[in-house]
Amino acid sequence: MKIKKFIKAHTINEVTKALEEFNGEIQIIAGGTDLSVKIRDGENDKAVIVDISDVSDMNKIEFSDNKLLIGSAVKFAEVEECIDIKNEFKGLWAAAKSVGAPQIRNLGTIGGNIANGSPAADIVPPLLALNACVTLESSNGKRILNLRDIYIGKGKVDIKEDEVLTFITIDRIKEKYYIEFEKLGLRNALAIARLSTSLYLEKDENNIIEKIRVASGSLGLYPMRELKLEEFMVGKKLDKNLMIESANVYSGIVYDRLHERSTCEFKKEAVKGIFLKAIEKCL
Ligand SMILES: Cc1cc2nc3c(=O)[nH]c(=O)nc-3n(C[C@H](O)[C@H](O)[C@H](O)COP(=O)(O)OP(=O)(O)OC[C@H]3O[C@@H](n4cnc5c(N)ncnc54)[C@H](O)[C@@H]3O)c2cc1C
Repeated sequence: MKIKKFIKAHTINEVTKALEEFNGEIQIIAGGTDLSVKIRDGENDKAVIVDISDVSDMNKIEFSDNKLLIGSAVKFAEVEECIDIKNEFKGLWAAAKSVGAPQIRNLGTIGGNIANGSPAADIVPPLLALNACVTLESSNGKRILNLRDIYIGKGKVDIKEDEVLTFITIDRIKEKYYIEFEKLGLRNALAIARLSTSLYLEKDENNIIEKIRVASGSLGLYPMRELKLEEFMVGKKLDKNLMIESANVYSGIVYDRLHERSTCEFKKEAVKGIFLKAIEKCL
């Protein structure tokens, strides 16, 4: 569809007002790395576009005592350049850094990666492993959801037509923990994930796993937590044996989920490799 109106917003209020005024006919653009491809291919069905890339409140990365807040219009490159994220949330930083070409990292946003709903969205598995929440705003108010609950089907997210994703928040953790990310792409320049995994792990002085969250990319209809695997691992001693057993459990889960797909044979084996690479860093 031909674009008839382009609105450049500078505040969240301007975004929500535009979404209300043109409800049903309007679409958000942030970095445009996904949407501009759709517009070029004539797959866009909205006549009005609101550009959120210069909304200052949605462009900030802020650490408070207990939380890290990332504005939805923050770009992959800005996460990659943030030393505090690198030091405290290594897997999140690694995911931003792993995104394909530098041009995409300079334009593509964290909010766009979530809202686009792709199973291969690189930033989502570490955010799921970190139990991140998202804030959605409209002229009727705010909703705060666990990121896990936003994915409702293939390419489908629970963001209403009059809502904008404004912030992503993560609890800061004071104790020792690990947050890792591993991805298998096709080639470096445009490495859209064939599959990825991220894990958050806390263990005690005897190496007993006290808390674990594992999340997958490109291993289902959307990025998802691996609850059965987490259940299998929690309370057990992290050693080489458990790592191998867990990799086999993960592989079995992937087989059960994907066994009707042609990619299953490859993914059920490859997932073991990326999982072992990630969990070895927690030893
Ligand atoms: C060549 C190429 C390589 C790529 N490589 C990778 C890769 O390695 N890893 C990866 O994960 N992705 C990759 N992508 C996909 C893309 O870059 C990411 O998904 C990016 O994060 C999208 O963000 P954006 O700001 O460009 O989104 P946009 O294109 O602006 O928007 C995408 C969708 O999200 C909606 N949206 C955007 N922001 C919001 C918001 N705040 N609230 C509500 N809705 C919103 C838009 O309406 C649109 O539907 C690649 C894309 C290309 C073209």
